[in-house]
Amino acid sequence: MKPGLFMITGAGGNVTAFIGDHGVMLVDDKLAGDANFDNLVAAVRGVSTLPVLAVFNTHYHPDHIGNNDRFLAAGVMVIGVDGIDRLLASAKNGTKTPSILFTKDFSLVLMRGRIDAHHYRPGHTSADAIIHFPTAKTVSTGDLVVAANPTIDYAGGATIAGWIATLDEMLKLDFDTAIPGHGDAPLSRADVERFRAKLATFLDRARTAIRGGATKADLIARIRTEDLGWSWTATSWPAVRVDGLWAEAGGPK
Ligand SMILES: [Zn+2]
Repeated sequence: MKPGLFMITGAGGNVTAFIGDHGVMLVDDKLAGDANFDNLVAAVRGVSTLPVLAVFNTHYHPDHIGNNDRFLAAGVMVIGVDGIDRLLASAKNGTKTPSILFTKDFSLVLMRGRIDAHHYRPGHTSADAIIHFPTAKTVSTGDLVVAANPTIDYAGGATIAGWIATLDEMLKLDFDTAIPGHGDAPLSRADVERFRAKLATFLDRARTAIRGGATKADLIARIRTEDLGWSWTATSWPAVRVDGLWAEAGGPK
C-alpha cells in the first residue's frame, strides 16, 4: 500500500508489516492459533524473506495479539503500553504479555525509517498504542479506528471522552493513511475524522437519552446508530459496558 509497508487482513485484527533493510517489524500478530500464525508468517514471507525483529501490540484484545507467545518463543521483541500487562493478567485469556513496555512514546529506527509508538489517553482500552510511520505518512490505529462498529471495552478501561481526545492527538500526527484494527482496506485521514465525529455523536446521544429518562435497560436501544453505520450484535453491550456508558454519559448512580 506504501513502499515497504503492508496491511495484512484475515482472521483477527489487521496486521501492519514494515520492511526495514535488516528485518521486519509488525504491528499486532492476529488471533491465536497455528493456522492463523502460519498464515501471518506466509503473508510476511510473501513480501520479505527477512526475519521479524519486533512486534508492537496495539492493545490487549486476543484477536490482535494472540500469537505473542510464538514470537516471544522465537526471541522477537514484543512491545506494548505499560498497563497492558495488568489488563492481560485480569483478562486471563492465555495471551502472553509483551517483553518491553513503554509509558508514552517509543521510537525504533530501522534501517529504512523511524517508527514512533504513542500512548495518549484511555480510549478503546486503558493501554492503547498508535504506531506512526512518518516516512510513509501512515498510522496503525488498532481498534481506536475500525471500519464498522467500535467496541467500547469499559471493563478494559475504555472511555469515549478519552478515545476522542486520543484521536485528536492522533490527528496532529502527519499521516494520510490509517490502517484500522478491523476492515478490509486502509482508511484516509478524512475517514478517521468521520469516525471521531461518530463517537462524539454517540456520546452526545447517550447523554440526551439519559436526560430524557432512559434506563440502563433501554439506554442502548434509545441511542440511534443507523445513520452512523453501526449495528450492535448480541455481545456488544454486556452489563459491564452498559454500566460504563451509563456512568460516562452522566447517568445517576
Ligand atoms: Zn480490540
